[in-house]
Amino acid sequence: MSQIAPIPSVTTTGEPLAGAPARKQNLLDLDRAGLERFFEETLGEKRYRAHQVMKWIHHRYVTDFDGMTDLGKPLRAKLQQHAEVVVPNVVFDKPSADGTHKWLLSMGADGKNAIETVYIPDKTRGTLCVSSQVGCALNCQFCSTATQGFNRNLSTAEIIGQVWVAARHLGNVPAQIRRLTNVVMMGMGEPLANFDNVVRAMSIMRDDLGYGLASKRVTLSTAGMVPMIDRLSTESDVSLAVSLHAAQDELRSQLVPLNKKYPVEQLMAACARYLKASPKRDSITFEYTLMKGVNDQPEHARSLARLMRQFGNQMQSREAGKVNLIPFNPFPGTRYERSDEAQIRAFQKILLDAQVLTMVRRTRGDDIDAACGQLKGQVMDRTRRQAEFNRQLREQGLGDAAA
Ligand code: SAH
Repeated sequence: MSQIAPIPSVTTTGEPLAGAPARKQNLLDLDRAGLERFFEETLGEKRYRAHQVMKWIHHRYVTDFDGMTDLGKPLRAKLQQHAEVVVPNVVFDKPSADGTHKWLLSMGADGKNAIETVYIPDKTRGTLCVSSQVGCALNCQFCSTATQGFNRNLSTAEIIGQVWVAARHLGNVPAQIRRLTNVVMMGMGEPLANFDNVVRAMSIMRDDLGYGLASKRVTLSTAGMVPMIDRLSTESDVSLAVSLHAAQDELRSQLVPLNKKYPVEQLMAACARYLKASPKRDSITFEYTLMKGVNDQPEHARSLARLMRQFGNQMQSREAGKVNLIPFNPFPGTRYERSDEAQIRAFQKILLDAQVLTMVRRTRGDDIDAACGQLKGQVMDRTRRQAEFNRQLREQGLGDAAA
């Protein structure tokens, strides 16, 4: 794996290695396969040792090798020399009146950038909303993260580290004390624009030696990066949510500029391919943020209903597309407003009458600015980074996402 610093002169006897590596490997950057390779190829140890260490980290929240008491002393010394477990730094954490909890975590050695992670408990589950980037480059008009610009992708360690911080705080013990039952990649950033790190982190979330979540309970939300939806389809079985916000191209291109590159028809075709590729996947959630006078009129609901019916027919299942209505969450400086309650109900009714499964996602944690689209963190040095990100996107043939 490219992330592992090659360490020469591995002994096969399990003896401590001579000479320190240039850089210690952060074990939080590795999923099970990567950790097994690190133990076998770099440390010259048996792979089951990797499993023991994974449990120490993700089940018992131990990051100090000396605390990993079922490892022999020589192995602990070897680990100390070649590896480390670096978790995100909590800048502050804030409980909300309704049980929602938000963490501001600093990212990187300089501590200048920070991202937000939110825990949302309800009767039957505990959902963690995880960030994938510092800021976001997609520039969706109604999203607070967009106003922050883009700085960089988070590493695997920084993504799974958010789960680690929350799970430890909650006293979560996988398969025993289940405080954390779902993860949604719906925090700051576009997860499919940070593909490898997000997929690796989601693999740790779903691993029994990690957080033991069923694939269905890990949801990736995308603004619609079509080629990456296809790539995800071959690499992961997680649930997919798609930020639609308008069923017609003209309006959607205004709200989600990425639509100019991947219009609605192409997006829906990618969604169909995602479902068809695996029998384990039965539906896709379409998120639709309701903004007063912008996309909340009866004609918008009817055109969304038509799109969902078409999708249902194509998939031969009325339940293939589910709609999640999100009343707009305001933030300082936005020109948008939340739709009135009556308008939200009327919008939902048009969809329900057309037999489209439609839920309204009720805002939680808004007293601590923890609702969808309100996550801001702290994004430094964003202009240069944004240009660099757009250059990388062009290289991948994806054009300027934020154009
Ligand atoms: N980049 C990913 C994850 C974003 S956040 C994506 O686009 O899907 C999760 C959801 O919140 C998205 O559907 C996003 O469009 C929506 N959202 C963003 N800002 C919002 C706001 N101010 N109010 C309500 N929903 C918002």
